[in-house]
Amino acid sequence: MATKINFNGEIHDHLNISVLDHGFLFGDSVYEVVCAVDNKPCYLDKHLARLFSSAKAISLNIPHDKEWFHEQVEVTLGAADNDESYIRIIVTRGTGEIDIDPSTCHSPNVIIIVMEIKKYPESDYEKGIHVALVSIKRNARDALNPNIKTGNYLNNVLAKMEANKLGAQDAIMVNSWGHLTEGTTSNLFFVRDGRVLTPSLDCGLLSGITRRMVIQLSEENGFHVEEGKWLGEELYGADEIFLTGTLKKVMPVSYLDGRPVGSGKPGPVTRKLMRLYRDVTKRKL
Ligand code: PMP
Repeated sequence: MATKINFNGEIHDHLNISVLDHGFLFGDSVYEVVCAVDNKPCYLDKHLARLFSSAKAISLNIPHDKEWFHEQVEVTLGAADNDESYIRIIVTRGTGEIDIDPSTCHSPNVIIIVMEIKKYPESDYEKGIHVALVSIKRNARDALNPNIKTGNYLNNVLAKMEANKLGAQDAIMVNSWGHLTEGTTSNLFFVRDGRVLTPSLDCGLLSGITRRMVIQLSEENGFHVEEGKWLGEELYGADEIFLTGTLKKVMPVSYLDGRPVGSGKPGPVTRKLMRLYRDVTKRKL
């Protein structure tokens, strides 16, 4: 069980990074979180595709190709050698002047953190978690597009703090028009009258890798998924709610703003999709 940190291709046990890195100063960076089992990363190709597209969206030139990332993730996983690992791949703008202008940064830094994964307790999957619809709005797409996975997560941090204050484990955010978007680190699905619904990407949310897989799994197993726009209040009428993400996987929600969702226990559609997702990810390894 170990933590290893790869900094531009060199592996360390600890890492100090310059305070002049614009990733630190301004959140000027992109990142991905990937899981690994027995030192094999899950869906690394999909995460690298999103990392490169996030970087492109903020005009950050990653100084390596995807093959390099595959190799570096593999050696860092080997050095840490955990049964199950959390991998965080970060590319920052690099060091520059203490000024917001990125043109003074000439060399992006690539950091790969590998540590033992902290899993959600099994009881969360059995009972479901509590969430709150918070007042903090998800960033507008024409301000900081939530579909770019940058290191600037203050919007989500504020939402999470509001949820904590309300005694909930996570927050659901709406956008400036009041339409449902996503959780702080997960995508949102809900079930109404047997239909599986999820906010569409144009509501302003991250195109989650787990979200895409759950949509595909649902369709393959006879559940039609509708992507659309729903007002926040419509979530109170849901029979079931669940969140999806690399770390959460398919996570049932049993309480919304202190009120039970459906029976207050994970519903049948959620349980089926939890099972299907677990099976398909196991088969992939
Ligand atoms: N939305 C946000 C804001 C996130 O941070 C994450 C986690 N990366 C997700 C959704 C879920 O994405 P994924 O399934 O790719 O982990």
